[in-house]
Amino acid sequence: MRNALVLGIVVAIAGSSEALMAAPEPTPVNPLLAPWTGPYGGVPPLDRVKVADFPPALEKAMDAQLAEIDAIVRNPEKPTFSNTIAALESSGKAFDRVSNIFGIYSSTMNLKDFQAVETDMAPKLAAFGDRIVQNRELFARIEAVYAARESVGLTPEQKRLTWLDHTNFVHAGAKLDAAGMKRMGEINQRLATLFTKFSQNLLADEHDHLLVIDRESDLAGLPDSVRLAASAAAEARGHKGSWAVLNTRSSMEPFLTYADRRELREKVWRTYYRRGDNDDAKDNKKGITEILRLRAERAGLLGFPTHAHWRLENTMAKTPERAIDLMEAVWKPAVARVHEEVADMQAVADRETAAGGPRITIAPWDYRYYAEKVRKEKYDLDQNAVTPYLQLEKLREGLFYTADRLFGLKFTPAPGVPVVDPDIRVWEVKDAGGKHLGLWYFDPYARAGKQSGAWMNAYRNQSRFEGEIPTIVSNNTNFVKGKPGEPVLISWDDATGLFHEFGHALHGLLSSVDYPSLSGTNVARDYVEFPSQILEHWLSTPEVLNRFALSVRTGAPVPRELVERIERASKFNQGFATVEYLAGALVDMKLHLAATPGTDIDPDAFEKKALAELGMPKEVVMRHRTPQFGHIFSSDGYSAGYYSYLWSDTLSADAWEAFEEAGGPWDPAVAKKLRDHVFSAGNTVDPAEAYRAFRGRDPGIDALMRKRGFAPPSASRSRKSGSGAAAD
Ligand SMILES: [Zn+2]
Repeated sequence: MRNALVLGIVVAIAGSSEALMAAPEPTPVNPLLAPWTGPYGGVPPLDRVKVADFPPALEKAMDAQLAEIDAIVRNPEKPTFSNTIAALESSGKAFDRVSNIFGIYSSTMNLKDFQAVETDMAPKLAAFGDRIVQNRELFARIEAVYAARESVGLTPEQKRLTWLDHTNFVHAGAKLDAAGMKRMGEINQRLATLFTKFSQNLLADEHDHLLVIDRESDLAGLPDSVRLAASAAAEARGHKGSWAVLNTRSSMEPFLTYADRRELREKVWRTYYRRGDNDDAKDNKKGITEILRLRAERAGLLGFPTHAHWRLENTMAKTPERAIDLMEAVWKPAVARVHEEVADMQAVADRETAAGGPRITIAPWDYRYYAEKVRKEKYDLDQNAVTPYLQLEKLREGLFYTADRLFGLKFTPAPGVPVVDPDIRVWEVKDAGGKHLGLWYFDPYARAGKQSGAWMNAYRNQSRFEGEIPTIVSNNTNFVKGKPGEPVLISWDDATGLFHEFGHALHGLLSSVDYPSLSGTNVARDYVEFPSQILEHWLSTPEVLNRFALSVRTGAPVPRELVERIERASKFNQGFATVEYLAGALVDMKLHLAATPGTDIDPDAFEKKALAELGMPKEVVMRHRTPQFGHIFSSDGYSAGYYSYLWSDTLSADAWEAFEEAGGPWDPAVAKKLRDHVFSAGNTVDPAEAYRAFRGRDPGIDALMRKRGFAPPSASRSRKSGSGAAAD
């Protein structure tokens, strides 16, 4: 998942005065500012967005929240939870509304006119966040409530929110002296500009570079589903009658898996992994150097040795060292597995040579292609044999089935809800008792201006401290839209990704808390992937596959023996998957441990050296190379935090075994515990405690190693308890 918008700590603080909004305003009112109206507790007016309305709406909404905060500060009564923490939570509602729509545009409608607005607004939004954090009178009140929190009869959730506000303010620099605050503001504004530039460069490289194929013979090896998608992509880009491989993961991966033409595989591979690294106007390297320098300076101002130490302070891992310990425990067996995988692939290539083919040494652009051949040999499993059963719309029904059977959720279409693109559809979600929980927006297809990848976004957080506010969440993916009337077929990996993002959506939809800042996915970054990763497991259950993995030709369910072969092959290629991910996570951490305010890090040289020191197999490349690593350079979001996926996976692997121990994936008692302690709890409890409440003990690393088919390091380490550690 990804935060669509970078607003420092205020992203989670709700806010604006309805009183201000209700004051008479000259017409026409900027629709972005108005309270959301209509059914379902009001919906965002996405049919009335004009890009030119963003700057005045954001300016007004920022002013409104600053006025509300001024009122909190001027309150003559002594600080209490109600007149300070809850009042802050209540502030900024207009800003929340506008900035959420701004986020939707930033991530899915990022065209030229919007880019100019985004570039202009990014530093202003950063400055706004700093003005709140750096308000000394406000912080003094928060500190006073925090100091008294144990003795004034607060609920556990109120205590947690007080702790969180205090922690976030201190973390963002509320205790700095005047000079420190000034410099902090300058750094944050400059970073906001650099992050925006980074994303826009990446988007341009993904859009502007593509491979157009004119000769059908160049498609050799590609299954029909990939050919159809390539044909549709070419037509959409003005090359009707040809085929196009877009410079996105969804286009690149199937091409590298199936295309027989090795020189075309190499070309697609090089173009994709050179995004942001072409030494042209869209190159990201200089920006990265400056981001790293500024982040290091900011950490120093705040009293931390490095940006990594600062970022991990309030995570489950707590320190970079503990995150690195986990990564290194998995790295060595994963690299060893890659060497075995390469040997298997080389054997296939050598046999082809003996049969008259060219001599080939497995290169990075061969990995997916030969892995597929090994998969066929070893497991009698052709990925391509699965794809005709993976229809996007049927799998979406499988998501709903899973949510219903596990948690009793019912999805019904909500036609007429405004959307930014006609391909986006909306469903209403109710619980087993018929209570409205929220809306789920599904934005499945790639389009110009949409960031690549897949993510969940919350347009409105669930809360009830001022009356029931239902959530609004979205899932966003980049499938290539098929021709009209033709079902969209997706790969097994993409189907897994669909369940993953839906897990984030359920984390939002099942939220049952009082305060929006503690709601849904507003949890520690290395905990937030736990609900999404555990949901991936339900895709491969017979109950889901038999009902929803249906042949596009006959409608028959995927054959039982094919499912069994998929299961047997589940640990196949885990060396590749783990190493391409972990290389990124380790380089991310190393970059942010090495950076200092006084050094200019050359991203390519650093990456090369770090990978060499790690013993990176030459046949694998980082999943996101440094110049295209949006997780860590398009915001602070996952910076020094890409390890989070592995950390969370120790939880999800261990949690899945709770279902297995109880007798299966649908065990109602385990599902109820998962809902009560994880999916519904948001950030109302410490994540380590929440996990313990679910599992009855701390997690260990052994389940993770079993899941990936690596030998567990020791049985004893998995039962270590009391430290709050996910995996040390
Ligand atoms: Zn995720």
